[in-house]
Amino acid sequence: MSEHTPEPWTWDKGDAGIERPEPYSTVSAGDTIVAEINSFIPEGEANALLIKAAPSLLAACKKSADTQCLCGIDQASNPCHACVAARAVAAAEGRS
Ligand SMILES: [Zn+2]
Repeated sequence: MSEHTPEPWTWDKGDAGIERPEPYSTVSAGDTIVAEINSFIPEGEANALLIKAAPSLLAACKKSADTQCLCGIDQASNPCHACVAARAVAAAEGRS
């Protein structure tokens, strides 16, 4: 799998005086559209902000995943922050 589009990612709400024919806003990296967001659902803004923050969240998870596992014998039912972060990184990288 290739790397994701480099940061910064920005969110264009589509409300900068431009009429949009469809209910979408966009998350972009420069001139590259990374994602179109359905702005007509109540979660639209939260979804856009989450996608915009995805590269930073992935970097934070990678950093946390590199810390020592503190699960002890309870990893399956109560994973530590390092294991939760490692699972999130694996999912983001298509390994789970
Ligand atoms: Zn752990």
